[in-house]
Amino acid sequence: MAGIYFHIPFCKRICAYCDFYRSAELKYMDSVIEAMHGELEEQATYLNDKQIRTIYFGGGTPSLLPPSELQHLIDHAAKLYDCSEVSEVTVEANPDDITAEYVKELRHTNINRVSLGVQSFDDKELRFMNRRHTAEEASQAVKRLQDAGIGNITIDLIFGVDGFGEDVLERSIQTALSLGVQHISAYHLTIECATAFYRRVQRGEMKEVDEECSEREYAIIEKRLCDAGFEHYEVSNYALKGFRSQHNSSYWSGAEYLGIGPGAHSFNGTERHWSVQSLSDYALKREYESEILTDKERYNEYVMTSLRRCEGVDTQYIKERFGMQQYDKVISDAQRWIANGDLVLDGSRLKIPTSRFLVSDAVIESFFEA
Ligand code: SF4
Repeated sequence: MAGIYFHIPFCKRICAYCDFYRSAELKYMDSVIEAMHGELEEQATYLNDKQIRTIYFGGGTPSLLPPSELQHLIDHAAKLYDCSEVSEVTVEANPDDITAEYVKELRHTNINRVSLGVQSFDDKELRFMNRRHTAEEASQAVKRLQDAGIGNITIDLIFGVDGFGEDVLERSIQTALSLGVQHISAYHLTIECATAFYRRVQRGEMKEVDEECSEREYAIIEKRLCDAGFEHYEVSNYALKGFRSQHNSSYWSGAEYLGIGPGAHSFNGTERHWSVQSLSDYALKREYESEILTDKERYNEYVMTSLRRCEGVDTQYIKERFGMQQYDKVISDAQRWIANGDLVLDGSRLKIPTSRFLVSDAVIESFFEA
């Protein structure tokens, strides 16, 4: 089982918090998309005939491309790989791209899941984040997609934004729930270098929220979403039953994937590679950097992705895959976290309780091998 990820790195406007690889230089769009078709051909054997189960268009803003262009990429992939069992095709979209025309075209594609970058249902907070849509446009986008028969919609929300307290967050969650989406990703704002928010913090115009505020807001999200029947299945992800992200879940379980587009990463079970993060270079000729994962890196990755999920790490798997010594060390290192409630041992599985996911980084890092 494997996935294909298409990275569409273009955005019309740069959000104040964003440090993803993206560009507002839309003049490169056509040449980059053409180059992505070229890269697909070049990488036709990368996944060794693995069957493709999920396809994901991320960015950037993939919804800047007409649905027919996205479908061309899907069709091209299907000529090179066995896509007969693909069960999930996701496109990330900006709410203001989801016009009636766009939705009409979307119905003629294989896309069956839409991930909307909503972030908030508060207009003032949206302006503060330099988002290019309003709360009303976000609600309209969800309804348009639903009317068109898209029954698998996820939205992103951001919390922990200075100056926008619990009331604003409560209202955003209530609106999200009232819209009847199947999946919600809730991310705590982090102030990353080279973002507009970072510069504001440097100028003293905003600050990072304190730990108590983060914990209060996290508790609100946890309570409201779990009360509404959502399962908190990964640190930042909540889903109704049957609506976990299949694509991301397969990443987290170590499945193989092919990344197409500037800066996109690929992994074939042993080797990881990624293409240059330059639009003009990518359009001309793909160059890659690569690494072969060592056992230690595989172990660290397994611990990180597993402890971020509600299933936790399987200590029996650690014993079988990484050896008795590693297993003994994990069990021993776990004791202090179990004693203070940050970890629980459930059968052979070590799990971080979802109520402690917000502060999971320290627990996870303590298991890493240097
Ligand atoms: S739309 Fe997404 S990728 Fe583009 S700048 Fe905003 S957050 Fe970043």
